[in-house]
Amino acid sequence: MTLLDATTDATPLGGPSLPQERRLVTALPGPRSAEILARKAEAVPAGVGHTVPVAAVAAGGGVVVDADGNSLIDLGSGIAVTSVGNAHPKVVEAVAAQTAQFTHTCFMISPYSSYIEVAEALNRLTPGSFAKKSALFNSGAEAVENAIKIARKHTGRQAVVAFDHGYHGRTNLTMALTAKSMPYKSGFGPFAPEVYRAPMSYPFRDGLSGAEAAARTILQLEKQVGADNLAAVIVEPIQGEGGFIVPADGYLNAIVDWCRENGVVFIADEVQTGFARTGAMFASEIFGIEPDLITTAKGIAAGLPLAAVTGRAEIMDASHAGGLGGTYGGNPVACAAALAAIDVFENEGLVERAQQIGEILTSRLSAMQASDPRIGDIRGHGAMIAAEFVDPETNAPDAALTAAVAKACIAEGVIVLTCGTYGNVIRFLPPLSIGDDLLGEGLDVVAAALAAA
Ligand SMILES: *Cc1c(COP(=O)(O)O)cnc(C)c1O
Repeated sequence: MTLLDATTDATPLGGPSLPQERRLVTALPGPRSAEILARKAEAVPAGVGHTVPVAAVAAGGGVVVDADGNSLIDLGSGIAVTSVGNAHPKVVEAVAAQTAQFTHTCFMISPYSSYIEVAEALNRLTPGSFAKKSALFNSGAEAVENAIKIARKHTGRQAVVAFDHGYHGRTNLTMALTAKSMPYKSGFGPFAPEVYRAPMSYPFRDGLSGAEAAARTILQLEKQVGADNLAAVIVEPIQGEGGFIVPADGYLNAIVDWCRENGVVFIADEVQTGFARTGAMFASEIFGIEPDLITTAKGIAAGLPLAAVTGRAEIMDASHAGGLGGTYGGNPVACAAALAAIDVFENEGLVERAQQIGEILTSRLSAMQASDPRIGDIRGHGAMIAAEFVDPETNAPDAALTAAVAKACIAEGVIVLTCGTYGNVIRFLPPLSIGDDLLGEGLDVVAAALAAA
């Protein structure tokens, strides 16, 4: 039997017309998923892990359907990627039309207009009233690598500062930028040189104001790196893998100001926070900052591989011709998906929808917290909200409780993701296409799992 055979009979089409329901017809994994996952274990290396033990066959709205016909509530969006909803009809149509026209020329050989239109949209939508340019790549890590290349070329300096709890990818340079050893770096060194780490503002754990945390950070930059050596500072405005850490008010603004004064390129890594996720088109807007460069990926193209660096035209133009690019960067099918997704973000009210989802998540989680002090903190913006689980006596991170709650939710057909330096955060990143009822049911399952844990 081929794997396709395992999913042919009665496999539903994805998209918003999929029944929007949680439906468990087997324990997870069911027999078909179990068979596919057994083949995964044989054919795919263990390093490529997975957290939800099902094989997906269709998805849309707020559900993922597996090979056995189970329908799971999706509170993860494939890590903040399918924000417009899986198999959104506009995306499906645009991808099909582009695929029938041409699938590749290599933009560095024969350019095509959809790449340019994506760049124009990014230049228009990202914060900053100055002239901007954009270059397209395939993954968030590749965008980050290129942002660093551009900043180094522009400044003629080498050092780069990343932050505690930061996550920037799994390539060599982005592993160096990433803070957490396990699972992202352990055993994979040596790492790229001239990468330094600075303390972040983490209000729940450091108790510092934005100004105090910024002073601590800047002192370290000046003493340990030296502004004259520093090409760029890269930070996620709200940290993703690190635990949805929202810096204290004024923190990012002070870092941006210091960068401006010292000729340091300020890079906002909005790979996870971008594209309406936080209830703003970009999280930088929430803090009133205008980054010199912004990296984007995840939400940009509804799941097709696409990423971008957008920023000040004079910085983006620092590289000589041929210095930036790649065989697939800005692939026409991915660009068609991005243009359709951007149309949905702008014209189907997704910024507002992310805000509504944020209100539902925050009020439901706050109600749980009121009767359960193991929820130490609830934070985030828009449809990017997390709960940090602690020992109520000591505030010590409780990774075991977090893992148990997440596992119980998944077993009950609700996809939730964990994160955090200490592994004690459950993050909620539902597709913005999820309905209120399904979101509420998903949160009922979370509440029950927490009560039982
Ligand atoms: C996911 C992520 C990346 C890496 O993106 P990939 O597409 O997985 O390479 C970089 N930065 C942030 C903030 C991310 O969340």
